[in-house]
Amino acid sequence: MQRSKTRVLDKVPTKPEELPMWNYDGSSTGQAPGDDSEVYLVPRAIYKDPFRGGDNILVMCDTYEPPRVLPDGTVTAIKPIPTNTRAACAEVMEKVKAEEPWFGIEQEYTLLNARTKWPLGWPTNGYPGPQGPYYCSAGAGAAIGREIVESHMKCCLFAGVNISGVNAEVMPAQWEYQVGPCTGISMGDDLWMSRYLMYRLAELYNVEVTFDPKPIPGDWNGAGGHTNFSSKATRTAETGWQAIQDQIAKLEKRHAVHIAAYGEGNERRLTGKHETSSIHDFSWGVANRGCSIRVGRMVPVEKCGYYEDRRPASNLDPYVVTRLICESALLM
Ligand code: ADP
Ligand code: MN
Ligand code: MN
Ligand code: MN
Ligand code: MN
Repeated sequence: MQRSKTRVLDKVPTKPEELPMWNYDGSSTGQAPGDDSEVYLVPRAIYKDPFRGGDNILVMCDTYEPPRVLPDGTVTAIKPIPTNTRAACAEVMEKVKAEEPWFGIEQEYTLLNARTKWPLGWPTNGYPGPQGPYYCSAGAGAAIGREIVESHMKCCLFAGVNISGVNAEVMPAQWEYQVGPCTGISMGDDLWMSRYLMYRLAELYNVEVTFDPKPIPGDWNGAGGHTNFSSKATRTAETGWQAIQDQIAKLEKRHAVHIAAYGEGNERRLTGKHETSSIHDFSWGVANRGCSIRVGRMVPVEKCGYYEDRRPASNLDPYVVTRLICESALLM
């Protein structure tokens, strides 16, 4: 979940360290008790604010228990609160820095009519024609909500989010954008910021955005967060193909750990139908979209490249998913 508040400063900061620490009322977010309610905000990354323009910035922060003064006078260090998944991710990314982990996340999402909570452009109390014509489509009735999609891409580019493409998805009113390749911790920062920008933008159209992995039950595609990964070894021709196979073998051993952390409600999506694999089994293959992990057609040819973890749901926490991939593929 993303929340924000605004602060007016009298100087323009150029890096997060120049920004003041701040706090918020954690009792209003279910993150702290009312009698000890302050949660500390630590500034981590700066983006340009596409809505206010000018010198205005958006600051990605993570969350900590404040320092405390003990009876003997010593001051304790700040400690990440339990929902701060960034801190653990940053630690792992520091450990694997020399391997240069790159990520690209494909963020699928669905636009909803804010009043009816039904997908945008779908007939009230009814369904559109079956899936087939909508993926990568153009035209009224097929590509629904494109103005939001296009404006969102502009917002991301202006802000400094490393967005790399967009496409209409298989279910009408469902879309995808890609963020990446991003190195290390910036994958999580950029993806969370891209979602915040999407929510902010959709407000202007009175449209709701859902990242639910299966917004409409039945014969309608779910929404994923395919996570593409490479490291220095997989990108190098001499070592690449072997490194990819070794990493996938390690990921297989930790399938259950990954699945448990790959998004709430993912079991409604990973059915083995609609271009997904079964949630229970690990599988991989070249160019196979029914696998847990897909290796691109060109990888065995060029003997290097990246692979795609297709298991994460659209509501994935990118800090958790990128940390787990690095832990399993690089540190085990
Ligand atoms: P798909 O064919 O699965 O739809 P997309 O084109 O939507 O793939 O997304 C591919 C993603 O892979 C993009 O986010 C891109 O940034 C990312 N990517 C490209 N090269 C690499 C790489 N070497 N390492 C990690 N990610 C990469
Ligand atoms: Mn107040
Ligand atoms: Mn894609
Ligand atoms: Mn897709
Ligand atoms: Mn994909």
